[in-house]
Amino acid sequence: MRIDVVSIFPEYLAALELSLIGKARQDGLLQLDVHDLRDFTTDKHRTVDDTPYGGGAGMVMKPEPWAQALESVLPADESRRPVLIVPSPAGEVFTQAAAHELAEEEHLVFACGRYEGIDERVLDWAQERFTVRPMSLGDYVLNGGEVAVLAMVEAIGRLVPGVVGNPESLVEESHSDGLLEYPVYTKPSQWRDKEVPEVLLSGNHAKIARFRRDEQLLRTLRRRPDLIARLDPGTLDKADKAL
Ligand code: SAM
Repeated sequence: MRIDVVSIFPEYLAALELSLIGKARQDGLLQLDVHDLRDFTTDKHRTVDDTPYGGGAGMVMKPEPWAQALESVLPADESRRPVLIVPSPAGEVFTQAAAHELAEEEHLVFACGRYEGIDERVLDWAQERFTVRPMSLGDYVLNGGEVAVLAMVEAIGRLVPGVVGNPESLVEESHSDGLLEYPVYTKPSQWRDKEVPEVLLSGNHAKIARFRRDEQLLRTLRRRPDLIARLDPGTLDKADKAL
């Protein structure tokens, strides 16, 4: 997968050199390049923002540097349409389902806004060249798109085959089946005055699976009742319904 990130703070994205994503880049599973938006300005001050038409607080990112930067990452083959993800609190909420969908793409481009955001005409213009998806990390406002890109690239990148060593660990995770993950424990079995639930030491795989499933349902019900409400009742088994 190819990923291009455009930002006025390219150094913010240095975290993508670390851990599993960094290793995936070294191994050639992810080809990730970060571009400085200011390299696409033409004035002495490398200006990327200006005052908003219609008045109001703050500054808006100018369209031309964005168009130049986005044109520079377009593939030579015009029949290929990269997905342009524009982080925005006014976008569709980024979910695990969206991460799975985007992990199937060949080429993702992220446009990190700052100030009051990017001149809206850039998004209209980009629709002719990219599949444009404004995406929000959640219902709160950040100072810029970089933090959102770090989260999205990590969530998408780890679903690219080969990035996570053991693909099994992607199956039983929170949100993989609409539920939160069950609690996990490691050695020692007795720590301070806390014990690991006995069933996990029993070696009885059927009982362990039932315990974990019950814990998933209870945890989701307590912490995220909205997820339970969205769950397809057809996916519940008899023992689930008895809970
Ligand atoms: N004026 C904008 C609004 O109210 O929709 C907010 C601009 S915000 C201060 C600056 C930039 O931070 C945005 O252009 C976007 O790139 C990023 N950003 C802020 N909150 C975000 C969120 N919840 N999800 C994704 N990106 C966000």
